[in-house]
Amino acid sequence: MYFNYTIDGKKLYTNKERGVTQLTNHFTKEEFDCKCGCGNGDIVISEKLVWELECVREAYKKPMRITSGIRCLAHNRKIGSRDTSSHVKGLAADIHCTDMWTRLELVRRLLRDGEFERIGINKQFIHVDVDYDKPRGIFVY
Ligand SMILES: [Zn+2]
Repeated sequence: MYFNYTIDGKKLYTNKERGVTQLTNHFTKEEFDCKCGCGNGDIVISEKLVWELECVREAYKKPMRITSGIRCLAHNRKIGSRDTSSHVKGLAADIHCTDMWTRLELVRRLLRDGEFERIGINKQFIHVDVDYDKPRGIFVY
C-alpha cells in the first residue's frame, strides 16, 4: 500500500484520466471536499483520517462512499450541524451505509483495521473521526 500524497502539497499524484487528485490507492481529494463547492477555504483533510480509512478500505475490499468529509462553517450550519463538528476541522468523514449487514461489516473493519477516536452510527451513514479534542467512543445519532 502506498500513500501517494502529503497534505502540505508535496508529491500530490493527480490522476489525469479521471481528473482527480489521488490521495491514496482508493481515495481522492475530491471525495473529501466540502459539498457546497467552496473549495474548502483554509480547511485541509486530515492525513491521519484518510490513512486510517485507506487501511480499512484495503481490508474491506469493497467501495466505501464518503458522503461528507470537509465542511466549511457555512455549509455545516446549513445542514444543521453544530459549529464544533469535527467535519469543520477536516478530521471527520461519513461513510454511506444504510443496511444492517453492511453496518456490521463496516464497523467490524473500522474497529479492526482503523484507529479512529470516535465512531457514530446513523441510519444513513457511519461517522468516523480522529478528533482528539473530543471524548473517545461510539455514539448514536
Ligand atoms: Zn463549503
